[in-house]
Amino acid sequence: MKFVFIIFLLSVSLISFAANSVTILIDPGHGGKDPGHLPTLDGIMQEKEIVLAISTKLGHYLTHNLSNVTVLYTRTSDTYPTLDERVEMANARGVDYVISIHVNGSENADVHGTETHIHNYDAKKSHQWAVLIEDQFKNRAGRKSRGVKTADDIGHSLQLVKFTKMPTVWLNVDLSQTHQKQNI
Ligand SMILES: [Zn+2]
Repeated sequence: MKFVFIIFLLSVSLISFAANSVTILIDPGHGGKDPGHLPTLDGIMQEKEIVLAISTKLGHYLTHNLSNVTVLYTRTSDTYPTLDERVEMANARGVDYVISIHVNGSENADVHGTETHIHNYDAKKSHQWAVLIEDQFKNRAGRKSRGVKTADDIGHSLQLVKFTKMPTVWLNVDLSQTHQKQNI
């Protein structure tokens, strides 16, 4: 899947979700000393690089196409804000929405698909947003959706979705190794 298509899908989700003036904090996962979780093979970008590229393009798209959206980032280069610092950025800046972007990476080709994580189903706006995103991947792109996941599903809490005070989703984009080679 090409980045631009991912960006389109995410943007449509955001557009339909965000009716009024909003500030969105985009969090490219990992960075700096933390390369992410993709297998390290020659010629394949690391997760931290892919998510920074997706995040930057998503932010540009939103900024240039939606006058009611202000975009902030937890990082714009190869740095590593701690998870505490990312939570603090969201809460201290009073943003309206947070989206953390990651890439699913498995050496098992049978394991693929997008996942959108929220803390739990009491986080109603997060859940609503997560469902929209997964619908876009599944119905517009025909991609395999692994659905919306909560802390119960994965057996632990993701710090960013647990401690931010606004609707927050953690998106795992499916980008298999073959897709990386073809499209990046
Ligand atoms: Zn990740």
